[in-house]
Amino acid sequence: MSFASLGLHQDILLQVQNLGYPTPTPIQQAAIPAVLAKKDLMAGAQTGTGKTAAFALPLLHQILTTESNDNPLGIQVLVLTPTRELAQQVHASFEKYSANTLIKSVVAYGGASINVQLDALRNGCQVLVATPGRLLELIMKNLIDLSDLKSLVLDEADRMLDMGFIIDIQRILKKLPETRQTLFFSATFNDEIFALSKTLLKDPQLIEV
Ligand code: AMP
Repeated sequence: MSFASLGLHQDILLQVQNLGYPTPTPIQQAAIPAVLAKKDLMAGAQTGTGKTAAFALPLLHQILTTESNDNPLGIQVLVLTPTRELAQQVHASFEKYSANTLIKSVVAYGGASINVQLDALRNGCQVLVATPGRLLELIMKNLIDLSDLKSLVLDEADRMLDMGFIIDIQRILKKLPETRQTLFFSATFNDEIFALSKTLLKDPQLIEV
């Protein structure tokens, strides 16, 4: 399978070529068509499998092909990560893959100035990558508008639960539009993970690589 056969937007394909990715990895081959078909996803994938591009590339495609009457600067994609390091990495990946476009990504995490992050948000972005605590702070202080959200990604969901973020995540979920696509990525699965995924996902496609 080639990247070209996946039906991704030209600007994204070009960037994948520039980065020298020869072919999609197994998780990308499985996830990209499912995300483009707007399906919910339950994916088991370790770091290093290409999982970030597996959700970032098709979500960027969706932003580029969104109906023109939508708010072009509204946050359409939200990625939640357990740590600031992963948030920074995922944000850097979105920036890398969208380098040929006008799409903007912002990252927000605790332990850093909220004002700098707020300035970035006020300038407008379509992608927000955040850790749960800082995002909840922004939501509760009414500093963020998530009404345009179309897709939610939980990256490393198992680590988020291990780190005790379940209450924060549930409070965040209550503030998100109900009609949305949800993508669930986890390196491991247990009862708690399945319970959370059941409350989040509608008729999900299961992917394990
Ligand atoms: P990840 O699993 O998302 O942490 O990605 C691991 C690494 O694989 C990153 O450095 C990516 O730049 C790289 N990568 C992602 N997709 C591909 C691909 N299709 N071919 C080659 N490298 C890739």
